[in-house]
Amino acid sequence: MSILKIINAGPDDQRFNLVLCGERASIASVLSSHAQDFISRFNTEFSELKNAVNIWLINELVDFHSVAQAGNVIQIHQSEVWPWVSVRVPQVTCVGVLIGDLSGGVAGGKNMFFVSTVSSGWLDTAMHEFGHTRGLVDEYAYSATFTGTLNEDAVPNVTANLNRATCKWGDLATPGGPWPTRGGSGPQMFLGDIETRVGLFEGGYLYSNGLYRSQLSCRMRSVTDKFCAVCRRHIVRSLAKYIPDVAPPPPPPPPPPTKSIALVSGSSSTMIAVPADMSLPVVLHSNKYYLCRSGTNTYDEVQVFTI
Ligand SMILES: [Zn+2]
Ligand SMILES: [Zn+2]
Repeated sequence: MSILKIINAGPDDQRFNLVLCGERASIASVLSSHAQDFISRFNTEFSELKNAVNIWLINELVDFHSVAQAGNVIQIHQSEVWPWVSVRVPQVTCVGVLIGDLSGGVAGGKNMFFVSTVSSGWLDTAMHEFGHTRGLVDEYAYSATFTGTLNEDAVPNVTANLNRATCKWGDLATPGGPWPTRGGSGPQMFLGDIETRVGLFEGGYLYSNGLYRSQLSCRMRSVTDKFCAVCRRHIVRSLAKYIPDVAPPPPPPPPPPTKSIALVSGSSSTMIAVPADMSLPVVLHSNKYYLCRSGTNTYDEVQVFTI
C-alpha cells in the first residue's frame, strides 16, 4: 500500500484534501495515470483553486461490496467507503473513487463522488459529480412541471424565482433581454448571444417547467459542456476558505522601543527600563536631562538612552 500526496498545496489542516482511490482490479494498471488526468483537468478548469486543494492517491485497490450498476448510475453504500479512506488519509475532505468497470457516475452528498473510468468522457462525468459534492443540483430536465416550493438557499444553480431584481444570480446576469430569457410566459426571443447569456432559462433540477437555470448549457445539464457561470462561481466559493491569501500576512508589529534612564548619583547610576509611550517628567536643560522626583520640585540629572 502506498499513499501519495500528489499535489501538495499546503498544510493539510488548511487545505481541501481531495483523496482519489481506485476500485476493482481492472483499474490497477491505469489508476496512477487516471489520477494524473483528473488532476490535470481539475487544475485546468479551476486554476484559481490550485493552491487550495491537496490531492492524494491511495495506491491500493479496494473492492467495495456495495458497488453495483443501477441504470446509468453507480450505486454504492457510502458507509462502506468513508471509513476505508479516512483510516488511510485522516485529513480527507472529499473522496473520488475511480471505478475500473461499470458506467456512469454518482455523487454521495458533500464529500464523495464515484465515477467509472471506462468511457473516454469519464473526466467530464467526474467534474459533474464533483459539482454535486459542492451542492450543485442537476440542470437537466424530464417532462414535468414543478409546482412545489423550492428551498432557494439549498439549491445554488436552479431557481423558481421569476423576479429579476431578487434573482440569486442577478449580479451575473447579462444586461437587457427578456426575463425569463427563454420559457415561462415571457417572450420566446432568440437572442444573438444566447450561448453565452446569463439569464433565466426554463428547465432544471429534473423539471422541464417551473424551474429555471442560469445559462443555456452547463456541465450540470450535459456533462460535456462547461460549467455555467453560476455553477463555476459556486464551486470556487465553496472552496474559498481553503485558498491561501495571495499576500503573506503582515509581520507582527515590532515591540515598542524602550528608554533606559540612568539615575546619576555620585559615581554610581541605576538603569530603569520604561516603555516608550510612558510619559516621564524628564526635562532638557543646557544639553542635560533632568528627572523630577515624584511629588517634589527636585530634579536629578539623568542619562537617557534609546534602545
Ligand atoms: Zn448529476
Ligand atoms: Zn450550471
